[in-house]
Amino acid sequence: MLKEKTAIITGASRGIGKAIAEIFAENNAFVGINYYKSQLFAEETFKKIKEKDGKAILLKGDVSNPKEVESFIKKFVSKSKHIDILVNNAGIYERSNFEKISHKTWNNVISTNLSGCFNVCKQAIPYMKPGGKIIFISSQLAYRGSSHGADYASSKAGMLGLMRSLALELACKKINVNAVAPGTIDTDIIANYSEEVRKQRKKEIPLNRLGTPKDIANTCLFLASNLSDYITGETINVNGGLYIH
Ligand code: NAD
Repeated sequence: MLKEKTAIITGASRGIGKAIAEIFAENNAFVGINYYKSQLFAEETFKKIKEKDGKAILLKGDVSNPKEVESFIKKFVSKSKHIDILVNNAGIYERSNFEKISHKTWNNVISTNLSGCFNVCKQAIPYMKPGGKIIFISSQLAYRGSSHGADYASSKAGMLGLMRSLALELACKKINVNAVAPGTIDTDIIANYSEEVRKQRKKEIPLNRLGTPKDIANTCLFLASNLSDYITGETINVNGGLYIH
């Protein structure tokens, strides 16, 4: 589905980003695996893609640091010449109620989850052509809010504002901009959930299971492909029916 396409996925060393990188590579895209601290995991993702004859490159860099973003985007385009698909996936989440969120934590979450998208879009968009696709990995909490992550929910809601604005601005260049809002997906980001919280979450989901990284990756594949050519400014909720709106 992505033959001859080039794609950058931020935070692709593990979890949802890794699943997106793998499915894009399986569909013949040349994939830029951005990672920050987890070099070992990133190398494993790279190896797995290569074993299946996929094409990939490792891109080290902190999305919250504009200089590092500039450098990994330049590294990618020195090989690919342009960028067809950008997935803004990198994100952090620390379960904490408002009272306990320090200014430092707030700034860290916003500068990674929201400003990180700005930094990456700023550097990547000049290399995108008509037919390009930008995908934001937001969250159901962008709509619902969160009693244990006001910083996170705010960053994810902000991403949707950026996504809609870019959809309007880039439509004349035939670049589609959309978001995916995952529900509860079984990855390391929710590793601190107790067994009890997990069971409770599962019970609340009409489809009666937590989501998998593959559930999100499949949706990204659709949004990255020509099948979604007439969709822009949209958010697809992938949450097993947990939050229907
Ligand atoms: P994860 O923690 O496994 O993955 C997050 C990735 O982002 C990691 O690879 C991490 O190294 C990377 N990252 C963090 N800070 C970075 C930085 N400054 N620069 C570059 N990379 C950085 O979690 P995940 O569940 O795979 O999350 C992926 C995305 O999906 C996140 O944006 C998350 O907010 C979103 N999401 C996840 C869930 C869920 O339930 N798992 C639900 C809704 C949204």
